[in-house]
Formats: sequence, C-alpha cells, structure tokens
Amino acid sequence: MAIELTLSILANVIKPVQVICPDQEKVSVVTGINTDTRTLQKGEIFIALVGEKFDGHQFIQKALQSGVSALILNENFLGEVSASVPQFYVKNTLTAYQQIAQWWRQQYTIPVIAITGSVGKTTTKELIAATLGQYGKVLKTEANYNNEIGVPKTLLGLTSEYDYAVIEMAMRAQGEIAQLTQIAQPNIGVITNVGTAHIGRLGSREAIAQAKCELLAEMPKTGIAILNQDNQRLMATASTIWTGKTLTYGLEGGDILGQLVDTDTLQVGNERFPLPLSGTHNASNYLAAITVAKALNLDLTQLQTEIPVTLPGARSRRYSLPNDILLLDETYNAGLESMIAALNLLKATPGKRHIAVLGTMKELGSESATLHREVGETVSNLNLDQVFILVDEPETEEIAKAAHPVKSECFQNKTELAQRLKEILAPRDRVLFKASNSVGLEEVLQAITN
Ligand code: ATP
Ligand code: MG
Repeated sequence: MAIELTLSILANVIKPVQVICPDQEKVSVVTGINTDTRTLQKGEIFIALVGEKFDGHQFIQKALQSGVSALILNENFLGEVSASVPQFYVKNTLTAYQQIAQWWRQQYTIPVIAITGSVGKTTTKELIAATLGQYGKVLKTEANYNNEIGVPKTLLGLTSEYDYAVIEMAMRAQGEIAQLTQIAQPNIGVITNVGTAHIGRLGSREAIAQAKCELLAEMPKTGIAILNQDNQRLMATASTIWTGKTLTYGLEGGDILGQLVDTDTLQVGNERFPLPLSGTHNASNYLAAITVAKALNLDLTQLQTEIPVTLPGARSRRYSLPNDILLLDETYNAGLESMIAALNLLKATPGKRHIAVLGTMKELGSESATLHREVGETVSNLNLDQVFILVDEPETEEIAKAAHPVKSECFQNKTELAQRLKEILAPRDRVLFKASNSVGLEEVLQAITN
C-alpha cells in the first residue's frame, strides 16, 4: 500500500513556525516533495531551499503556476506570499526537507545500506546496487547526490516497489555523516576506507577516521557494520566507536577474505566471482558488495556470472585510439589513495609503454607537497615509462621531483600538454589521465580523442 503523507502529518514532522491554510480541505494527501520547479509536477509540494548559488524562494510564482499543492518556505517570507495553497513557514527549509525524508524512510522496513569512506564510495555504491539488483529492486543514490540535499532527495524516492535502498554519504566536515545517518537510519553501514581526502579541512587522518565513523555512532544499534579490514586506521577508530554486529572484508584479511585469482576473478572461500570492474581497488570495492549480500543472507551463487556495472561520470572510462592506444580516463577526481590505485591499474594494464598524465590533487592543505611527492614516488616505484604533469599549484611539481628516474615533463598550459602528448603517443601505449575534478584535465584528454 502506498504511504500517505497528509498535510497534518507534515505539520507534525516539520513543526512549522506558522501555517497558512487558505483552503485546508483542498489537499489532504501529498503526492510528492520537490525542490526544483523545473521538474515540479502538479499536486506536489514545493520546498524552497537556499544554497550558496541559488534561492528557491525566487521560484515561488513559478511553483504556483505549476499547480503545487502547498509551499514550505523560510519564516522570513511570512507575509510576503500571496497564494491560495497552504503555506508552511519554518526556521530552515533544508531541515524541514531532511525531516520529511527521515519520516518517509521510517515508513519502510526494507534494508537501507549506507556507504561512506574517503575513496570509492560511488563505485562501491554502484557495485552494491548492481549486486542487490540480482535479488530485487534497488533504489540508489543517483550520480554523486551524496550530501545534505542528495541523501534526503534519494530517500524521498522510496516507494513500496523497492526491496533495497543504497545510499552514498559524503562529508566535507565533522558532523555531516552523523546528520545523514540520522536521516537515513541505515540497517547496514559500509565504510570503504579512511584516507587523506579533505585533510586540508579536517586537519588529520584521525579526524577523518572519526568523521567517517560517525556512520557507526549514529547507526541503529541493531545495524551491521561492514568495514574494510585492510585499512588499519579505519579498524582502530571503528573499534572505539562500534561494538555491534560487524562483518569485515579485505584482500589481506577479514571475515570475508577475497583473493584475486587473476585480474578478473575474485575468490571468496570456495566460490569464485567475476569482477565487474578492473583494478585491485575495485576488487576491494566488489568484496564490500559481496559482504553486504552475505550480511543480508543472500544466496551468492547468483553472483557467479558477471553482473553488469556502469559507473556514472569519468570513472574507470576507457578510450581506444587507432594503433591500439588505450586511454584510461580517471579525470573525475583524485586524492592520494585513488592516484595510487589508478597508477597500479595503469601498470597492470597489458601494453607497451605505460604513461601517466597527472594533475593537482586539491584540498590537501599543508599536506599537499608531501602527498604529491608520494604520488611521484609511486610513479618511480612502478617504473612507469613517462609522466606528464599539468602544474597549476607549486606543490604539483613535487610529483616530477619524486618520479626520478622516470622521465617527467611539466606543463602549465593544457593545449601545449595535449599537443605534446599527440606527438609522443605510439602504438600500444597505455595512458592514464588523473587529477582533481577542478583541474579540468579532461580537456586534455578530449583534445587528444577529438
Ligand atoms: P567522491 O568523494 O567524489 O564522492 P567517491 O568516494 O565516491 O568520491 P569514487 O567516485 O567511487 O569515489 O572513486 C573516485 C576515484 O577513486 C576513482 O576514479 C578510482 O580511481 C578511485 N577508487 C575507487 N575505489 C577505490 C579504492 N577502494 N581505493 C582507492 N582508490 C579507489
Ligand atoms: Mg562519490
């Protein structure tokens, strides 16, 4: 049976400062909650969110023209709006949105699986969703909608047709995962790892670990924690926070221990599973998905045939050029751990020369130089054939300094870098492109593919 959210329940949930109901009888059941007038359907409630670059209150008239059933607005608009539909005035519309999502989630008893971690959240989310898709219908976070707006938006998509919900949770500061967890109340919480992403903001690796483990601190006590045992800092911090049911996974150790039989096959106990995505890091991500299936007591034989997985955005994309030249597009984003994972994947890709085209990892604060140096050391240790570096911050050059004896070339200009790459590319080259999203390294890749 469909869940009914009535205006009186809504008032109970969001506790408005004031309600103006010109014609209360007109609407009793809410058909949907929408924050975006571009997709607003007749009969839905419009909630005006305020962001850094937008203010939903500017679109009240448009919402009314679309035939909304009610409005949820900030209290400072009280007396400013002339409308024939009910208006709920609240202290903070985002809080109201989150409260409605939390209530909505509470109406369902299906397993909700939350995923956080420094890297691999979206990939692991997609792998878990694809895995659970073998057993039922899955609601999942679309693209990377993993924040204080995206998590409620996803949860509000729950209907009785779903068997599972898979929710990605991201953070930029302390307290955010705690808040998202309170909204989603997951039955299973997966933490992929603790690394260095956002260290500039959070200050230390321990602070990052604490922030990720807010998922455990806020998860219902009946929940199951699924933790990557290969990540020692995660395990150490988690053990001080969570004493409930836990299933660990890992390629080095764990309750669910995975072994790479070859680059495409993972062995767990006596069972073998084809890997949907290549790279050791993706084997670890897939092991998290298998562990979720185990935690839900699902029959794993269904996973013995390959399950299709496509990642959103420029993650694990590949482009083939003439002469069997292969470009690995990881320009979506980069931090230390994902750089190392991608460099290893490059090296493991059969071909002639292995070339890395790298750019800055952002938001690393005072650790930036050290972490860029670590990337250079990895290039050196892997003995790649050459590294090209797009330098937009002085720290980026540390990659070149540490890459020795691997030959490095630094560029400040994307066009010149693309030009140089076109000159040197030769048959059977394997070329990795990776940098933080804001660097725009994909422009270099596109200049080569076009
Ligand atoms: P965001 O913070 O942007 O949401 P995310 O945590 O969702 O990132 P993904 O988008 O899944 O992470 O992956 C980002 C990059 O990290 C990928 O391009 C991949 O190269 C790398 N990566 C994925 N999983 C792992 C892992 N387990 N360990 C190290 N690197 C990984
Ligand atoms: Mg993500």
